[in-house]
Amino acid sequence: MTAFEQAVKTLKRNGYKTTGKRQRILELLYHSNKYMSAKEVQDRLKKMFPGISPDTIYRNLRTFVSLKVVEETELNGEKLFRATCDVHGHHHHFICTSCGETRELDCPMSFFQDQLPGYDVHSHRFELFGECSKCLQKDQYK
Ligand SMILES: [Zn+2]
Ligand SMILES: [Zn+2]
Ligand SMILES: [Zn+2]
Repeated sequence: MTAFEQAVKTLKRNGYKTTGKRQRILELLYHSNKYMSAKEVQDRLKKMFPGISPDTIYRNLRTFVSLKVVEETELNGEKLFRATCDVHGHHHHFICTSCGETRELDCPMSFFQDQLPGYDVHSHRFELFGECSKCLQKDQYK
């Protein structure tokens, strides 16, 4: 079963109908290795669903986050969403601020644990933001 099929199953198990729009939003996220804003999701789907409202998209994205099939982060006050990818082990992300592409990073927690002898860290968040090599190359040829 693919990660996408698994996500659809999670939705069904929680009593959510996987209707056209909802399924398409999820599919788009699962077929892109990147973070997207609700606006970008709307742009990508408006050919298929010309009348789709930002509210509909946002509501569905919130549902996906609550079911943990989608992860969210925030950049410059804007919420960004991507398919949950922790299924293949705990890791972190480098996120390109130009194109949203993400790259997996190993967890750096052992580095911090060494600096907190006798402490118990309950949770952590770790993300790097910058420009990916493709975007940097594009910039050069502008
Ligand atoms: Zn990931
Ligand atoms: Zn990029
Ligand atoms: Zn970690």
